[in-house]
Amino acid sequence: MTDSTNNKPTDAARRLFLGRAALVVAGGVTVALAASSPAAAKAKQTAVKYQTTPKGKAACGNCAQFIAPKSCKVVDGDVVPTGWCLMYAPKT
Ligand code: SF4
Repeated sequence: MTDSTNNKPTDAARRLFLGRAALVVAGGVTVALAASSPAAAKAKQTAVKYQTTPKGKAACGNCAQFIAPKSCKVVDGDVVPTGWCLMYAPKT
């Protein structure tokens, strides 16, 4: 999708590209997420080294991405409040 007058991508092409891919940078780790559907936008637990135990004081229960009682905004599947992963972001 290019503009025939200047051969540059159209706004629609830019939106399509941005809608299908997302980059999440956390803790020095970059995880590319394919986002062909909203459900696929979350990272796999194995990709972000999710574990059911905390890392020191860092745990899902005090992470900004945690959705009680057992979900996460950025990681797929059930998570527990005592869990942890590379995407951890402390609540402010
Ligand atoms: S530590 Fe990871 S899995 Fe747990 S809530 Fe935060 S981002 Fe989600």
